[in-house]
Amino acid sequence: MDKAREQQVLELVPTGAFVGGEWRAGASGATFEVEDPATQEPLISVADGTPADATAALDAACAVQEEWAATPPRERGEILRRAFALLNERADDLALLMTLEMGKPIAEAKAEVTYGAEFFRWFSEEAVRIDGRWSVNPAGAGRLLTMKQPVGPCLLITPWNFPIAMGTRKIGPAIAAGCTMVVKPAQQTPLSMLLLAELLSQAGLPDGVLNVVPTTKASDVTGPLFDDDRLRKVSFTGSTPVGRQLMELASKHVLRVSMELGGNAPYLVFGDADLDAAVDQAVIAKMRNIGESCVAANRFHVHESVADEFASRLAERLGRMKVGRGTEDGVEVGPLIDGKQRDKVAELVDDAVGKGAKVLTGGERVGDRGYFYAPTVLSGIADDADLLREEIFGPVAPVKSFSTDDEAVAAANDSEFGLVAYVFTNDLKRAIRVVEALDVGMVGLNRGLVSNPAAEFGGVKQSGFGREGGREGIEEYLATKYVAVDL
Ligand code: NAP
Repeated sequence: MDKAREQQVLELVPTGAFVGGEWRAGASGATFEVEDPATQEPLISVADGTPADATAALDAACAVQEEWAATPPRERGEILRRAFALLNERADDLALLMTLEMGKPIAEAKAEVTYGAEFFRWFSEEAVRIDGRWSVNPAGAGRLLTMKQPVGPCLLITPWNFPIAMGTRKIGPAIAAGCTMVVKPAQQTPLSMLLLAELLSQAGLPDGVLNVVPTTKASDVTGPLFDDDRLRKVSFTGSTPVGRQLMELASKHVLRVSMELGGNAPYLVFGDADLDAAVDQAVIAKMRNIGESCVAANRFHVHESVADEFASRLAERLGRMKVGRGTEDGVEVGPLIDGKQRDKVAELVDDAVGKGAKVLTGGERVGDRGYFYAPTVLSGIADDADLLREEIFGPVAPVKSFSTDDEAVAAANDSEFGLVAYVFTNDLKRAIRVVEALDVGMVGLNRGLVSNPAAEFGGVKQSGFGREGGREGIEEYLATKYVAVDL
């Protein structure tokens, strides 16, 4: 990739905080550098938002909340529809920017722009389908009316792993429902969100509806918003420990809360499964986003009759994947987000190997610049290996065998997380039995990819609550008002 083109894209980024439709330097005038995880070099600096900026952003959101809620749904939908088109038009710029700041290969970054934009199209269609209910009181006298209204100003906090899609999945329904918002992007990947805010503004989103505050001090900057009773909702995507803290803060003013938290997805392959499909889909479920995805297959539980063959075929596939900077041709595996994440992945592999696992491919860091880790397949995993319990968030596939269906389901459910599970079987009865027994919010049945803007995304147990996308996604931003009508 040509350096001049990279520079050109970086120059498109508005580097301030976006408050009330204006780009501001930030109250302190301080900035922070965003790093390229493939080279460990700084890309560009952006405003380092302060608590005063966050409060100004909430002021701006509150100032236009009433007017925005009264804006015709069709108009809100049309803005989203224009934003959908703009994101697709500008997909090359957005994708390159995302690859530079986050590391994912450019083809995956483009796929994320397409996926992220789809939330705008989906919710442009949902904006005009907000409805209520009118019914006769069962006792006969009077009527019951229920209506849906926007919740009010929201705080949306997003992670670094899908810098665009995790934003549009919240911003889309908030706009459709008539809510205003303050967005706090992850400090490692604020650039895509800043350009996205600019594109939404170009699509006609009125000033103040969306405000963005990048910062290195997440807790200090969002803290005052939780203390402010004008804020009505928080939607968070990120780790379970941070989610827990935010729920505590949200209890102060009893905010509406949506939590999309960590995962530890089991990938079950039964003896009757189509092994070619199970291996193909495993590559997607494991390696999409360099394994840094909450829905990444974290552990492979494979029937003993096919476990060795599955593991060696998966090792062969992962072993030939090209590792490198995401901007380079043919690269399929980019760097991890930072040194801490790479060290964590390496420690989990070392722990498993120390407890007897065999490395079929990978198992080591790659290069001395950038946070690269080789695609890795491990077999012979001990029951107490840490990577069975912890979210790996990297390109490591542990394969463990099972002998009965009950054993497979018990192993799958043996986690405090419950976001997604993958099931590979050609036996319909087994498929239904297993799917029903899994304690998760989503299942990929003979598929390694579940994310779809038209479907409800979310988890159970410590993976959180609330749903994003699908029919339920907009409900997170709507409050129900019931009216008892006397005739
Ligand atoms: P994280 O550390 O929890 O951070 C997520 C976001 O929260 C970032 O914007 C972060 O800001 C902010 N944050 C951190 N501490 C905060 C605090 N005390 N107060 C307010 N904001 C705070 O998570 P991450 O490492 O970026 O993301 C990885 C995690 O996200 C994984 O566990 C993954 O499974 C989960 N995830 C879940 C889903 C889902 O839909 N269920 C989707 C994607 C990712 P800074 O950047 O400044 O730290």
